[in-house]
Amino acid sequence: MRSTMQETPLSIATLVRYGTSVHGSSEVVTWTGEGARSATYAEVGRRAARLAHALRALGVRGDDRVGTFMWNNQEHLEAYLAVPAMGAVLHPLNIRLFPDQLAFIADHGGDKVVLVDGSVLPLLAKVLGQLPQVQHVVVNGPADLSVLEGTSATVHAYEDLLDGQPDEFDWVDPDDETDAAAMCYTSGTTGNPKGVAYSHRSIYLHSMQVCMSDGFAMGQRDRVLLIVPMFHVLAWGTPYAAMMSGASLVMPDRFLTPEPLADLIETAKPTLAGGVPTVWTALLAYLDQTPRDMSSLRDVVVGGSACPRSLMEGLERHGVHVTHAWGMTETSPLGSISREPGGVEGEDAWRYRITQGRLAASVQARLVGPDGSVVPRDGTAVGELEVRGPWITGSYVRDDDPAKFDDGWLRTGDVGSITPDGFLTLTDRSKDVIKSGGEWISSVALENALMAHPAVAEASVVGVPDEKWGERPLATVVRREGTEVGADELRAFLAVRVAQWQLPERWSFVDEVPKTSVGKFDKKVIRRQYADGALDVQTLP
Ligand code: ADP
Repeated sequence: MRSTMQETPLSIATLVRYGTSVHGSSEVVTWTGEGARSATYAEVGRRAARLAHALRALGVRGDDRVGTFMWNNQEHLEAYLAVPAMGAVLHPLNIRLFPDQLAFIADHGGDKVVLVDGSVLPLLAKVLGQLPQVQHVVVNGPADLSVLEGTSATVHAYEDLLDGQPDEFDWVDPDDETDAAAMCYTSGTTGNPKGVAYSHRSIYLHSMQVCMSDGFAMGQRDRVLLIVPMFHVLAWGTPYAAMMSGASLVMPDRFLTPEPLADLIETAKPTLAGGVPTVWTALLAYLDQTPRDMSSLRDVVVGGSACPRSLMEGLERHGVHVTHAWGMTETSPLGSISREPGGVEGEDAWRYRITQGRLAASVQARLVGPDGSVVPRDGTAVGELEVRGPWITGSYVRDDDPAKFDDGWLRTGDVGSITPDGFLTLTDRSKDVIKSGGEWISSVALENALMAHPAVAEASVVGVPDEKWGERPLATVVRREGTEVGADELRAFLAVRVAQWQLPERWSFVDEVPKTSVGKFDKKVIRRQYADGALDVQTLP
């Protein structure tokens, strides 16, 4: 029997119409370095309509790709709304990639028009010569246009382009809700970047999960601080969830270091935020020196890499509650989020809070052992996590990578266990697992334990070749400013927290742990530095 329900498509157009009218008085606030500028969603809706008309005039049709090379700001939000809601495909480009990777991604994505912030125009200019398909470059804000000399693309100023265009656009619902609305590339932590195309349907459903009370619990009373770059997994889907819920958005633009972030938080008073651990680690170090008013924040969702308990406790000293979540570019990204069950408190709550969290209803998961068989979800057995569901990718853009899929399931490359009540604990990425004498050592567990030491600012653990054991852990540590801790003391600190045979012999004290373009520890680089002899390594007996 067929249902009698209407089949109106789930679409970004619906979210834009709703968010910019019903929630027309919600606002987007953008930090300028000295203060904040703001616009209501009604204004943003009108400006998005003008942008859509302007893009049509430039020849954007059908599912043409429109690239953005921008910080988190109001104009980027306008592109987020206009491009998919006019039927084209939004492609946020990662500002922090190396020129070659950037050229690869923009070319592979087929971007026809690129919207770019003036402050990062020189970075884009470096690769434009390799991108013949880019016909138009639209520059937002003040810029030195001389860097574009010799480019074959036509250059426009964002505001000039919008000027005189109509305030309304007949937003387009796709014929098929599974059509692409936007695409992002993986940040390439473990290999070449791969494109993921999000559909209108997947973004709509994912937004509902973000708004759910056991998701980010995002509602119209919230003001959401968007630290996650808008080129990283669509800013974790937050802008679209904001259209759905009416939550206001607070955008840091390019001011991402701790002090301006603290200024922005004190001025714009966000209630909710998200970001990778390294951003919060830096903010915490600053707050410990210079206490600031963080009281507006009711919750901060931390994910993208494992969030150590010490970071959660540290931020909570400043009154900021942290919720740990797991996801990936391929999963839109929300896969699991860690909220302790009702009635569980104190130390018991921590048992749940440090996990990667409970899987969402729409995220089906299983664990697969090395022999390909499914292992039980008993909280103990460990396997590679495989997931499937309506906002999980089933393939990559123009790149079938059969090794990443297993009978319709996405192989996440993450290794861990799941409890019978659905809490996921990750011990590693399969590429980062350390295999010592046939036993697995969890680099994440060692890192979390090390970062609990008061003198440790950051710690990353990788496996390095060892004659006797095959592989052994190498700990790279950044000391907190003004501290003098050494390898002996740190090993003794670990010795009461992890099994004796897992204790690293090799230690290297560094000024900074290398990071990827989205701020995660870059273990590929650490392993290479070790192999090249570029690290100063101390070996304990
Ligand atoms: P990349 O794979 O290039 O880093 P993504 O941002 O898509 O790009 O990264 C997804 C990966 O990040 C996951 O597969 C997982 O390894 C890691 N990750 C995300 N959240 C967490 C978390 N809470 N704990 C541990 N690892 C995480």
